[in-house]
Amino acid sequence: MSARVNLLGLPRPALEAWCESLGSRPFRARQLMSWLYKRGVSEFEQMTDLARDFRAQLALQAEVTLPEIISSQQASDGTRKWLLRADASQAFEMVYIPETDRGTLCISSQVGCALDCSFCSTGQQGFNRNLTTAEIVGQVWLANRELGFAPGDPRIITNVVMMGMGEPLANFRNVIPALQIFLDDLGFDLSRRRVTLSTSGLVPQMYKLAEVINVALAVSLHAPDDELRSQLVPINKLHPIAELLEACWHYIDEQNGRSVTFEYVMLDGINDSPEQARALTRLLRGRPAKLNLIPFNPFPGTHYRRSSDEAIWKFRDQLLRGGIMATVRRTRGDDIDAACGQLVGRVQDRTVVRLGSKTVGLRVEA
Ligand code: SAH
Ligand code: SF4
Repeated sequence: MSARVNLLGLPRPALEAWCESLGSRPFRARQLMSWLYKRGVSEFEQMTDLARDFRAQLALQAEVTLPEIISSQQASDGTRKWLLRADASQAFEMVYIPETDRGTLCISSQVGCALDCSFCSTGQQGFNRNLTTAEIVGQVWLANRELGFAPGDPRIITNVVMMGMGEPLANFRNVIPALQIFLDDLGFDLSRRRVTLSTSGLVPQMYKLAEVINVALAVSLHAPDDELRSQLVPINKLHPIAELLEACWHYIDEQNGRSVTFEYVMLDGINDSPEQARALTRLLRGRPAKLNLIPFNPFPGTHYRRSSDEAIWKFRDQLLRGGIMATVRRTRGDDIDAACGQLVGRVQDRTVVRLGSKTVGLRVEA
Protein backbone atom coordinates (compact mmCIF):
# COMPACT_ATOMS: atom_id res chain seq x y z
CA MET A 1 0.00 0.00 0.00
CA SER A 2 1.15 3.50 -0.81
CA ALA A 3 2.19 5.62 2.15
CA ARG A 4 1.28 8.71 0.15
CA VAL A 5 -1.81 10.70 0.99
CA ASN A 6 -4.49 10.71 -1.69
CA LEU A 7 -5.44 14.39 -1.82
CA LEU A 8 -8.93 13.58 -3.14
CA GLY A 9 -9.71 12.20 0.31
CA LEU A 10 -9.07 15.48 2.15
CA PRO A 11 -11.72 18.19 2.56
CA ARG A 12 -10.40 21.73 2.98
CA PRO A 13 -9.66 21.77 6.77
CA ALA A 14 -7.85 18.43 6.55
CA LEU A 15 -5.89 19.55 3.49
CA GLU A 16 -4.88 22.77 5.26
CA ALA A 17 -3.72 20.81 8.30
CA TRP A 18 -1.79 18.45 6.04
CA CYS A 19 -0.08 21.35 4.22
CA GLU A 20 0.85 22.83 7.60
CA SER A 21 2.29 19.51 8.69
CA LEU A 22 4.65 19.80 5.70
CA GLY A 23 5.66 23.25 6.90
CA SER A 24 3.60 25.03 4.24
CA ARG A 25 1.09 27.78 4.74
CA PRO A 26 -2.63 26.93 4.67
CA PHE A 27 -3.21 28.96 1.49
CA ARG A 28 -1.33 26.20 -0.35
CA ALA A 29 -4.37 24.03 0.34
CA ARG A 30 -6.58 26.52 -1.47
CA GLN A 31 -4.20 26.59 -4.43
CA LEU A 32 -4.17 22.81 -4.52
CA MET A 33 -7.95 22.58 -4.41
CA SER A 34 -8.25 25.06 -7.21
CA TRP A 35 -5.97 22.92 -9.41
CA LEU A 36 -7.68 19.71 -8.45
CA TYR A 37 -11.31 20.73 -8.68
CA LYS A 38 -11.55 23.91 -10.72
CA ARG A 39 -9.05 22.97 -13.36
CA GLY A 40 -9.24 19.19 -13.14
CA VAL A 41 -5.44 18.84 -12.97
CA SER A 42 -4.05 15.79 -11.19
CA GLU A 43 -0.33 16.07 -12.07
CA PHE A 44 1.72 18.08 -9.58
CA GLU A 45 4.20 19.23 -12.29
CA GLN A 46 1.37 21.02 -14.04
CA MET A 47 0.45 23.05 -10.93
CA THR A 48 2.69 25.87 -12.02
CA ASP A 49 1.93 28.47 -9.35
CA LEU A 50 3.07 26.15 -6.55
CA ALA A 51 6.63 26.71 -5.32
CA ARG A 52 9.07 24.24 -6.81
CA ASP A 53 10.09 22.70 -3.47
CA PHE A 54 6.45 22.34 -2.42
CA ARG A 55 5.80 20.44 -5.65
CA ALA A 56 8.81 18.23 -4.90
CA GLN A 57 7.36 17.51 -1.44
CA LEU A 58 4.00 16.70 -2.99
CA ALA A 59 5.60 14.29 -5.42
CA LEU A 60 7.12 12.42 -2.49
CA GLN A 61 4.24 12.46 -0.05
CA ALA A 62 1.01 12.89 -1.97
CA GLU A 63 -0.87 11.40 -4.87
CA VAL A 64 -4.05 12.00 -6.79
CA THR A 65 -5.28 8.51 -7.47
CA LEU A 66 -8.56 7.90 -9.25
CA PRO A 67 -10.61 4.74 -9.47
CA GLU A 68 -9.60 2.77 -12.54
CA ILE A 69 -12.24 2.43 -15.25
CA ILE A 70 -12.85 -1.20 -16.16
CA SER A 71 -15.49 -0.51 -18.80
CA SER A 72 -18.04 2.06 -19.88
CA GLN A 73 -21.32 1.89 -21.72
CA GLN A 74 -23.65 4.41 -23.30
CA ALA A 75 -27.41 3.92 -23.57
CA SER A 76 -29.54 5.04 -26.50
CA ASP A 77 -30.94 7.91 -24.37
CA GLY A 78 -27.41 9.25 -23.67
CA THR A 79 -27.14 7.78 -20.17
CA ARG A 80 -23.62 6.56 -19.43
CA LYS A 81 -22.45 3.96 -16.98
CA TRP A 82 -18.92 3.19 -15.83
CA LEU A 83 -17.68 0.11 -14.03
CA LEU A 84 -14.86 1.08 -11.65
CA ARG A 85 -12.30 -1.12 -9.98
CA ALA A 86 -12.34 -1.46 -6.20
CA ASP A 87 -9.65 -4.17 -6.20
CA ALA A 88 -8.67 -7.26 -8.16
CA SER A 89 -12.07 -8.90 -7.87
CA GLN A 90 -14.48 -6.13 -6.80
CA ALA A 91 -16.06 -3.31 -8.75
CA PHE A 92 -18.65 -0.55 -8.34
CA GLU A 93 -20.63 1.61 -10.73
CA MET A 94 -21.52 5.22 -11.43
CA VAL A 95 -24.08 6.58 -13.89
CA TYR A 96 -24.41 9.92 -15.70
CA ILE A 97 -27.90 11.00 -16.71
CA PRO A 98 -28.10 13.96 -19.11
CA GLU A 99 -31.29 16.01 -19.19
CA THR A 100 -32.11 19.25 -20.96
CA ASP A 101 -31.72 21.44 -17.87
CA ARG A 102 -29.20 19.45 -15.85
CA GLY A 103 -26.67 16.63 -15.74
CA THR A 104 -26.92 14.22 -12.84
CA LEU A 105 -24.18 11.91 -11.67
CA CYS A 106 -25.36 8.97 -9.58
CA ILE A 107 -22.48 7.70 -7.46
CA SER A 108 -21.80 4.72 -5.21
CA SER A 109 -20.80 4.75 -1.55
CA GLN A 110 -20.06 1.05 -0.96
CA VAL A 111 -19.14 -2.09 -2.86
CA GLY A 112 -22.43 -3.94 -2.45
CA CYS A 113 -24.79 -3.26 0.42
CA ALA A 114 -25.59 -5.14 3.61
CA LEU A 115 -29.14 -3.89 4.01
CA ASP A 116 -30.70 -6.57 1.86
CA CYS A 117 -33.73 -4.74 0.45
CA SER A 118 -35.64 -7.44 -1.36
CA PHE A 119 -36.24 -5.46 -4.59
CA CYS A 120 -32.65 -4.19 -5.06
CA SER A 121 -30.02 -6.02 -7.07
CA THR A 122 -27.15 -4.34 -5.18
CA GLY A 123 -28.64 -5.58 -1.90
CA GLN A 124 -29.10 -9.06 -3.26
CA GLN A 125 -25.36 -9.36 -3.78
CA GLY A 126 -24.29 -8.69 -0.21
CA PHE A 127 -21.61 -6.34 1.01
CA ASN A 128 -17.88 -6.23 0.43
CA ARG A 129 -16.48 -2.92 1.67
CA ASN A 130 -16.94 0.80 2.15
CA LEU A 131 -15.56 3.09 -0.52
CA THR A 132 -12.96 5.57 0.71
CA THR A 133 -13.56 9.32 0.59
CA ALA A 134 -11.11 9.53 -2.31
CA GLU A 135 -13.04 6.85 -4.22
CA ILE A 136 -16.30 8.72 -3.67
CA VAL A 137 -14.84 12.10 -4.68
CA GLY A 138 -12.88 10.40 -7.46
CA GLN A 139 -16.13 9.37 -9.15
CA VAL A 140 -17.17 12.99 -9.72
CA TRP A 141 -13.63 13.96 -10.73
CA LEU A 142 -13.39 11.10 -13.20
CA ALA A 143 -16.86 11.64 -14.67
CA ASN A 144 -16.01 15.29 -15.33
CA ARG A 145 -12.90 14.20 -17.20
CA GLU A 146 -14.72 11.46 -19.10
CA LEU A 147 -17.47 13.88 -20.10
CA GLY A 148 -14.91 16.29 -21.50
CA PHE A 149 -15.28 19.09 -18.95
CA ALA A 150 -12.73 21.90 -19.48
CA PRO A 151 -12.03 24.82 -17.11
CA GLY A 152 -14.26 27.78 -17.85
CA ASP A 153 -16.92 25.60 -19.52
CA PRO A 154 -20.43 25.54 -18.11
CA ARG A 155 -20.83 22.68 -15.69
CA ILE A 156 -21.61 19.28 -17.15
CA ILE A 157 -22.39 17.68 -13.81
CA THR A 158 -24.88 19.99 -12.08
CA ASN A 159 -26.30 17.45 -9.63
CA VAL A 160 -24.80 14.60 -7.64
CA VAL A 161 -27.01 11.94 -6.10
CA MET A 162 -25.80 9.24 -3.72
CA MET A 163 -28.18 6.67 -5.15
CA GLY A 164 -25.75 4.21 -6.69
CA MET A 165 -24.47 1.12 -4.93
CA GLY A 166 -24.51 1.08 -1.14
CA GLU A 167 -26.09 2.78 1.83
CA PRO A 168 -24.27 6.10 2.28
CA LEU A 169 -25.12 6.46 5.97
CA ALA A 170 -23.57 3.05 6.66
CA ASN A 171 -20.31 4.64 5.47
CA PHE A 172 -20.78 7.89 7.35
CA ARG A 173 -17.11 8.48 8.12
CA ASN A 174 -16.08 8.53 4.46
CA VAL A 175 -19.24 10.02 2.97
CA ILE A 176 -19.30 13.25 5.03
CA PRO A 177 -15.87 14.54 3.88
CA ALA A 178 -16.86 13.72 0.29
CA LEU A 179 -20.06 15.75 0.64
CA GLN A 180 -17.98 18.61 2.07
CA ILE A 181 -15.78 18.57 -1.04
CA PHE A 182 -18.87 18.54 -3.31
CA LEU A 183 -20.24 21.67 -1.61
CA ASP A 184 -17.00 23.58 -1.01
CA ASP A 185 -16.68 26.58 -3.32
CA LEU A 186 -13.07 25.52 -3.93
CA GLY A 187 -14.25 21.95 -4.45
CA PHE A 188 -16.99 21.08 -6.93
CA ASP A 189 -18.95 24.09 -5.66
CA LEU A 190 -22.33 22.40 -6.03
CA SER A 191 -25.41 23.94 -4.49
CA ARG A 192 -26.64 22.09 -1.40
CA ARG A 193 -29.98 21.54 -3.07
CA ARG A 194 -28.23 19.72 -5.91
CA VAL A 195 -26.39 17.21 -3.76
CA THR A 196 -28.73 14.47 -2.59
CA LEU A 197 -28.08 11.76 -0.08
CA SER A 198 -30.50 8.86 -0.28
CA THR A 199 -30.90 6.59 2.72
CA SER A 200 -32.97 3.53 3.48
CA GLY A 201 -33.45 4.90 6.98
CA LEU A 202 -30.49 4.52 9.34
CA VAL A 203 -32.13 6.68 11.99
CA PRO A 204 -29.21 7.31 14.39
CA GLN A 205 -26.99 8.34 11.47
CA MET A 206 -29.73 10.67 10.21
CA TYR A 207 -29.56 12.56 13.52
CA LYS A 208 -25.80 12.75 13.19
CA LEU A 209 -26.14 13.96 9.62
CA ALA A 210 -28.39 16.78 10.83
CA GLU A 211 -25.54 17.96 13.04
CA VAL A 212 -22.87 18.03 10.38
CA ILE A 213 -24.09 18.83 6.90
CA ASN A 214 -26.88 20.42 4.90
CA VAL A 215 -27.72 18.54 1.70
CA ALA A 216 -30.95 17.42 0.08
CA LEU A 217 -32.32 14.34 1.83
CA ALA A 218 -34.06 11.48 0.05
CA VAL A 219 -35.49 8.59 2.05
CA SER A 220 -36.49 5.20 0.69
CA LEU A 221 -39.96 4.65 2.13
CA HIS A 222 -41.55 2.15 -0.28
CA ALA A 223 -44.47 1.18 1.97
CA PRO A 224 -47.04 3.00 4.09
CA ASP A 225 -47.07 0.46 6.96
CA ASP A 226 -44.45 -1.30 9.06
CA GLU A 227 -45.48 -4.82 8.16
CA LEU A 228 -44.89 -4.34 4.45
CA ARG A 229 -41.92 -2.02 4.87
CA SER A 230 -40.13 -4.60 7.01
CA GLN A 231 -40.48 -7.10 4.18
CA LEU A 232 -39.14 -4.72 1.57
CA VAL A 233 -36.57 -2.77 3.60
CA PRO A 234 -35.47 -5.02 6.49
CA ILE A 235 -33.80 -2.16 8.40
CA ASN A 236 -37.39 -1.12 9.18
CA LYS A 237 -37.48 -3.82 11.86
CA LEU A 238 -34.84 -1.85 13.70
CA HIS A 239 -36.13 1.64 12.86
CA PRO A 240 -39.84 1.59 12.07
CA ILE A 241 -41.69 4.23 10.08
CA ALA A 242 -42.73 6.52 12.97
CA GLU A 243 -39.12 6.73 14.18
CA LEU A 244 -37.87 7.28 10.64
CA LEU A 245 -40.30 10.12 9.96
CA GLU A 246 -39.32 11.86 13.21
CA ALA A 247 -35.70 11.77 12.08
CA CYS A 248 -36.74 13.25 8.71
CA TRP A 249 -38.62 16.20 10.24
CA HIS A 250 -35.74 16.77 12.63
CA TYR A 251 -33.33 17.00 9.69
CA ILE A 252 -35.54 19.54 7.93
CA ASP A 253 -35.86 21.63 11.12
CA GLU A 254 -32.16 21.55 11.92
CA GLN A 255 -30.97 22.29 8.42
CA ASN A 256 -33.74 24.65 7.48
CA GLY A 257 -34.55 22.42 4.55
CA ARG A 258 -37.55 22.64 2.28
CA SER A 259 -38.70 19.05 2.17
CA VAL A 260 -37.68 15.42 2.23
CA THR A 261 -38.10 13.44 -0.97
CA PHE A 262 -39.54 10.02 -0.23
CA GLU A 263 -38.70 7.37 -2.78
CA TYR A 264 -41.36 4.78 -3.41
CA VAL A 265 -40.62 1.91 -5.77
CA MET A 266 -43.78 0.81 -7.60
CA LEU A 267 -44.19 -2.96 -7.26
CA ASP A 268 -47.13 -4.60 -8.97
CA GLY A 269 -49.69 -5.92 -6.49
CA ILE A 270 -47.40 -5.23 -3.52
CA ASN A 271 -47.52 -1.52 -2.63
CA ASP A 272 -49.53 0.12 -5.43
CA SER A 273 -53.17 -0.12 -4.33
CA PRO A 274 -55.56 2.81 -3.76
CA GLU A 275 -55.75 1.94 -0.02
CA GLN A 276 -51.97 2.16 0.17
CA ALA A 277 -52.06 5.57 -1.54
CA ARG A 278 -54.59 6.69 1.08
CA ALA A 279 -52.45 5.37 3.92
CA LEU A 280 -49.43 7.20 2.49
CA THR A 281 -51.44 10.40 2.26
CA ARG A 282 -52.42 10.11 5.93
CA LEU A 283 -48.79 9.57 6.85
CA LEU A 284 -47.39 12.57 4.99
CA ARG A 285 -50.18 15.13 4.70
CA GLY A 286 -49.22 18.54 6.03
CA ARG A 287 -45.55 17.56 6.27
CA PRO A 288 -42.58 18.92 4.32
CA ALA A 289 -42.62 15.88 2.05
CA LYS A 290 -42.53 15.04 -1.64
CA LEU A 291 -42.99 11.61 -3.10
CA ASN A 292 -40.98 10.29 -5.99
CA LEU A 293 -42.55 7.17 -7.46
CA ILE A 294 -39.93 4.92 -9.06
CA PRO A 295 -41.17 2.29 -11.52
CA PHE A 296 -39.52 -0.94 -10.38
CA ASN A 297 -36.52 -1.92 -12.49
CA PRO A 298 -36.31 -5.68 -12.80
CA PHE A 299 -33.10 -7.71 -12.60
CA PRO A 300 -32.39 -11.41 -13.10
CA GLY A 301 -33.82 -13.61 -10.38
CA THR A 302 -36.32 -11.12 -8.94
CA HIS A 303 -39.90 -12.20 -8.37
CA TYR A 304 -41.23 -8.61 -8.34
CA ARG A 305 -42.88 -6.95 -11.32
CA ARG A 306 -43.18 -3.30 -12.21
CA SER A 307 -46.62 -1.76 -11.60
CA SER A 308 -48.50 -0.96 -14.79
CA ASP A 309 -48.26 2.61 -16.08
CA GLU A 310 -51.93 2.97 -15.35
CA ALA A 311 -51.51 1.92 -11.71
CA ILE A 312 -48.56 4.28 -11.29
CA TRP A 313 -50.41 7.33 -12.67
CA LYS A 314 -53.55 6.51 -10.67
CA PHE A 315 -51.45 6.22 -7.54
CA ARG A 316 -49.87 9.57 -8.27
CA ASP A 317 -53.18 11.29 -8.99
CA GLN A 318 -54.61 9.98 -5.77
CA LEU A 319 -51.66 11.38 -3.82
CA LEU A 320 -52.01 14.73 -5.57
CA ARG A 321 -55.70 14.86 -4.73
CA GLY A 322 -54.78 14.14 -1.12
CA GLY A 323 -52.49 17.16 -1.15
CA ILE A 324 -49.19 15.27 -1.46
CA MET A 325 -46.71 16.49 -4.03
CA ALA A 326 -45.85 13.42 -6.12
CA THR A 327 -43.81 12.83 -9.26
CA VAL A 328 -42.96 9.76 -11.31
CA ARG A 329 -39.29 9.14 -12.00
CA ARG A 330 -38.54 8.57 -15.64
CA THR A 331 -36.54 5.42 -16.10
CA ARG A 332 -33.25 6.07 -17.85
CA GLY A 333 -30.51 3.89 -19.24
CA ASP A 334 -32.80 0.87 -19.55
CA ASP A 335 -30.81 -0.81 -22.30
CA ILE A 336 -27.56 -0.80 -20.29
CA ASP A 337 -29.10 -1.73 -16.91
CA ALA A 338 -28.19 1.66 -15.51
CA ALA A 339 -31.51 2.38 -13.84
CA CYS A 340 -32.09 2.66 -10.07
CA GLY A 341 -31.49 -0.57 -8.27
CA GLN A 342 -29.88 -2.32 -11.22
CA LEU A 343 -26.29 -1.49 -10.39
CA VAL A 344 -24.47 -4.66 -9.65
CA GLY A 345 -20.80 -3.83 -10.05
CA ARG A 346 -18.90 -6.89 -9.03
CA VAL A 347 -19.24 -8.01 -5.45
CA GLN A 348 -17.31 -11.09 -4.49
CA ASP A 349 -15.53 -12.19 -1.32
CA ARG A 350 -18.39 -10.88 0.70
CA THR A 351 -17.30 -10.14 4.24
CA VAL A 352 -20.87 -9.74 5.38
CA VAL A 353 -23.48 -11.82 3.70
CA ARG A 354 -27.03 -10.70 3.34
CA LEU A 355 -28.49 -9.70 6.66
CA GLY A 356 -32.15 -10.28 5.87
CA SER A 357 -34.11 -10.82 9.04
CA LYS A 358 -30.92 -10.59 11.05
CA THR A 359 -30.81 -6.81 10.84
CA VAL A 360 -31.50 -6.48 14.55
CA GLY A 361 -28.06 -6.02 16.00
CA LEU A 362 -26.65 -4.76 12.73
CA ARG A 363 -23.80 -2.42 13.43
CA VAL A 364 -22.93 0.22 10.92
CA GLU A 365 -19.76 2.15 10.87
CA ALA A 366 -20.06 5.75 11.99
N1 SAH B 1 -29.06 2.80 -0.17
C1 SAH B 1 -29.71 4.01 -0.48
C2 SAH B 1 -29.28 4.61 -1.79
C3 SAH B 1 -29.05 3.70 -2.95
S1 SAH B 1 -30.47 2.98 -3.69
C4 SAH B 1 -31.20 3.86 -0.42
O1 SAH B 1 -31.67 2.72 -0.36
O2 SAH B 1 -31.91 4.85 -0.39
C5 SAH B 1 -31.25 4.35 -4.55
C6 SAH B 1 -32.76 4.19 -4.73
O3 SAH B 1 -33.05 3.14 -5.69
C7 SAH B 1 -33.49 3.80 -3.45
O4 SAH B 1 -34.68 4.54 -3.28
C8 SAH B 1 -33.80 2.37 -3.71
O5 SAH B 1 -34.85 1.91 -2.91
C9 SAH B 1 -34.12 2.37 -5.17
N2 SAH B 1 -34.11 1.04 -5.80
C10 SAH B 1 -33.42 -0.04 -5.40
N3 SAH B 1 -33.68 -1.09 -6.21
C11 SAH B 1 -34.55 -0.66 -7.13
C12 SAH B 1 -35.18 -1.27 -8.26
N4 SAH B 1 -34.91 -2.52 -8.60
N5 SAH B 1 -36.02 -0.51 -9.00
C13 SAH B 1 -36.25 0.77 -8.69
N6 SAH B 1 -35.68 1.41 -7.64
C14 SAH B 1 -34.85 0.69 -6.87
FE1 SF4 C 1 -28.84 -1.08 0.02
FE2 SF4 C 1 -30.31 0.97 -0.87
FE3 SF4 C 1 -30.25 -1.38 -2.21
FE4 SF4 C 1 -31.50 -1.22 0.16
S1 SF4 C 1 -32.05 -0.14 -1.74
S2 SF4 C 1 -30.09 -2.86 -0.49
S3 SF4 C 1 -30.18 0.20 1.27
S4 SF4 C 1 -28.54 0.01 -1.90
